[in-house]
Amino acid sequence: MSRIPRIVILGAGYGGVVTAIRLQKHLNYNEADVTLVNKHDYHYITTHLHMPAAGTVSPETARIDISKLIDEFKIDFVKSTVAQIRPQDKKVIMEDSTLSYDYLVVGLGGEPETFGIPGLKEHSLNIRSLNSVRYIREHIEFQFAKYKQEPHRTDYLTFVVGGAGFTGIEFLGELVNRLPKLCKEFDVDPTLVKIINVEAAPTALPGFDPELVEYATDLLTSKGVIFKLATPIKECREDGVILANGEVIKAGTVIWTGGIRGNRLLEDAGFETTRGRVIVDSHLRTKEYENVYVLGDCSIVLNEQGKPYPTTAQISIQQAEICSHNLIATIRNTPLKTFSFTNKGMVASLGRGDAIGVVGKHKVKGFTAAMMKRAIDVRYLYMIGGIPLVIKKGF
Ligand code: FAD
Ligand code: NAD
Repeated sequence: MSRIPRIVILGAGYGGVVTAIRLQKHLNYNEADVTLVNKHDYHYITTHLHMPAAGTVSPETARIDISKLIDEFKIDFVKSTVAQIRPQDKKVIMEDSTLSYDYLVVGLGGEPETFGIPGLKEHSLNIRSLNSVRYIREHIEFQFAKYKQEPHRTDYLTFVVGGAGFTGIEFLGELVNRLPKLCKEFDVDPTLVKIINVEAAPTALPGFDPELVEYATDLLTSKGVIFKLATPIKECREDGVILANGEVIKAGTVIWTGGIRGNRLLEDAGFETTRGRVIVDSHLRTKEYENVYVLGDCSIVLNEQGKPYPTTAQISIQQAEICSHNLIATIRNTPLKTFSFTNKGMVASLGRGDAIGVVGKHKVKGFTAAMMKRAIDVRYLYMIGGIPLVIKKGF
């Protein structure tokens, strides 16, 4: 290669943004030409999205302009939607232009997994992006307004959350805190509002510490959530859901948090995928193309037992650190690093001031866990934007 290498990063989520920031910091002048492509000119803090979705904070709190995170003298930013990846030609086709690369980093995140359940795609809402949570927030308020116009339609005041994984539980924690305020604002009798969580597994947060799961479900139940466990959703309709046991729940709102899959662009590009995700090698590259790295929710890293690690911001950030190192090492012809995940723990919010978590060998709950969650959030803000971003967004 006689010219300087071109690195293209797709997606400015956790994986993409941290890779770009690391490259900007560690690459020497003229060592590589780096381009970051994202469909919005902002990065959203996905781990906060349950809050603006329920309307307990403004969507603005989860939004950071990409221009505040990268130095545009070092990294070119292209605001566009990727339409196709052509690894055989080393090209990325976007809605309005085409980019050529020598090295590609795919961090395009995930998509809701609907498991082919009829009607879910059409009639449920998802907590996936800033635009999707803006929509959910407005939709919830609209249900209250509609009920005031048609007081016999109490189903407008029924909210079904499908799935009690971390996303579903965190959203429920916010929703139960928001609804009393909405009832007051719209003069609605709170006893008419129903929040129903439907979970296929016999427990909420399957696989998580049972004592902490009990703490979470007791707390949410005390605030009005009805849990229907071991009960998969079989169908979603415009006016509610049908469960596998035949029960029909009429509801104005169905939020689907039943899991995610990788971005479809990867399977369309011909990579071997499992539920849209690419199993990457120990250096985070695809098995088909050594010059293509895949990070975050569209990648799979297997643990020692051969099972995929859960897709989280935590693993995406750690992958970005190794990916940026390996890109630079490849350019400089120095040794690559092997990726190995360090689990720093999991903390799930249960609404303002309450949370549950396992950090190292310690279980935490209540206010302490909520403070820990805040500390994790602040650490991320510091990592990508230093003290100014912490001051702007962290408090
Ligand atoms: P994402 O952060 O999803 O970013 C993908 C980026 O690609 C986005 O900017 C998107 O706009 C862009 N993009 C997508 N398609 C295109 C396209 N075609 N063209 C151009 N750009 C495109 N994990 C934790 O570790 N801790 C937590 O506390 C936690 N809380 C969570 C709370 C919620 C409510 C949710 C939904 C998830 C949470 N997670 C948490 C999981 C975590 O957010 C994800 O694992 C993480 O966001 C994955 O990062 P990523 O870089 O792969 O993708
Ligand atoms: P998930 O896959 O972890 O959970 C989905 C849940 O939906 C499961 O409990 C599953 O049993 C249930 N489900 C599936 N099909 C169903 C059906 N037909 N009817 C009813 N229930 C059904 O998905 P998620 O909660 O969106 O989380 C995605 C990833 O993001 C996970 O890796 C998670 O760890 C991570 N995350 C982490 C945090 C945190 O650390 N605080 C917060 C949110 C998400």
